[in-house]
Amino acid sequence: MHSKDLTDRFVRNEREAGIVARTDQLANIFAERSTKHDREGSFPHENFADMRKHGYMKLTVPAQYGGDEASLYEMLLAQDHLARGDGSTALAVGWHLGQVMQLRLSRSWPESLFSSFCKEIVDKGATINHYASERATGSPSRGGKPETAAYKTAGGFIITGRKTYSTLSPAVSYFTLTAWIEEEGRVGEFLVPMGEGVHIEETWDTLGMRATGSHDLVLKDLFVPDPCSLRGGEIKRSGDTPFDGGTLLHIPACYIGIAHAARDFAIQFAKKHRPNSLPGPIAELPSIQRQIGEMEVELISARTVLYSVADRFDRDSVEERSLLKPELALAKYVATNAAVRIVDIAMRIVGGASLSRQLPLERMYRDVRAGLHNPPMDDITLNGLARRALTEG
Ligand SMILES: Cc1cc2nc3c(=O)[nH]c(=O)nc-3n(C[C@H](O)[C@H](O)[C@H](O)COP(=O)(O)OP(=O)(O)OC[C@H]3O[C@@H](n4cnc5c(N)ncnc54)[C@H](O)[C@@H]3O)c2cc1C
Repeated sequence: MHSKDLTDRFVRNEREAGIVARTDQLANIFAERSTKHDREGSFPHENFADMRKHGYMKLTVPAQYGGDEASLYEMLLAQDHLARGDGSTALAVGWHLGQVMQLRLSRSWPESLFSSFCKEIVDKGATINHYASERATGSPSRGGKPETAAYKTAGGFIITGRKTYSTLSPAVSYFTLTAWIEEEGRVGEFLVPMGEGVHIEETWDTLGMRATGSHDLVLKDLFVPDPCSLRGGEIKRSGDTPFDGGTLLHIPACYIGIAHAARDFAIQFAKKHRPNSLPGPIAELPSIQRQIGEMEVELISARTVLYSVADRFDRDSVEERSLLKPELALAKYVATNAAVRIVDIAMRIVGGASLSRQLPLERMYRDVRAGLHNPPMDDITLNGLARRALTEG
């Protein structure tokens, strides 16, 4: 199902070609497993074992700690290609890659903590994600106060609460979470190693992205010590949030990868499908060619915006990057909405067969819907762009 064509016009050099070639190998294997995990809603542990074996977890770790130190552009290329094999796997590992890149760029953790965490990634394939969503607050980007509570106790904190949408939870080694510290009237951020005091409640039974393991995480009287180490604790950040800025673009890269796979499938289908009412394959029909052209407009436009914003982010100084926020949100808006339209057109090209659960298109159709509900949400992006236009205009 996955395109064997290695000519990706967005690959700029040998290093990027290598990243793409290695990722394509994984994606081809994952594509074979994706129907099973989608049907069962099961977590693709074997994909994570393969990624660990091939060093995918260390893609964004700094070179000084043994990682590949991928640029944002390179991470997006990898995620775009990985998602062509399996969107759920790509989204789940994308949170890990993005958070590690954010830590690398911001150095907002104490350096000794960050370096020992990087060692765990490089040596053991450790993973991380950030859990901020809760039922009552909805999307954390809207500023709701967490109901998960942290209380001061001798030598640390006790945390109790529930996080929703905990993507990657079946394979996460560490996570950060937000909790309300009542005594101090503020939101704290804590690092927690997966294990005792943390329970996964398997609530994730959704229309799409079914294999992301985005279950509820229940914390009951979980003790985390002070000061923070890999055994847990409150993280005293120097400013930013875990996903402030460009590193969130792993999300649109994932959805555009899924759409790319749908586009590849529809084109292969159109080249082969020969109804006996026609002298040749449906790819020769002007109506089909027009639809393929429409998919190309959506895909190339979205990738152009995504990769040019990533390239700017990589080249900008830290101060300039902070001004890129509306463009980063725009890239996510353009790519996730294009992904929905591309899969829709791909299904129109294939016709009734596109509904078959024997083919991958119906899964891709369901999977790309989820992109609309990952941050930043469309209304926040549109409001931000409108505010800037009104201020500048
Ligand atoms: C596949 C997937 C993976 C995810 N993984 C993670 C993860 O790893 N970690 C994590 O923390 N979260 C994760 N999330 C959760 C995600 O970040 C959002 O929290 C979640 O999708 C809920 O967002 P929402 O906008 O639908 O919810 P809500 O904020 O409840 O919004 C619901 C509706 O109400 C409107 N609304 C609500 N409040 C306001 C307001 N104040 N102003 C204006 N409109 C409002 C919204 O526009 C929307 O229409 C994941 C989500 C998905 C779909």
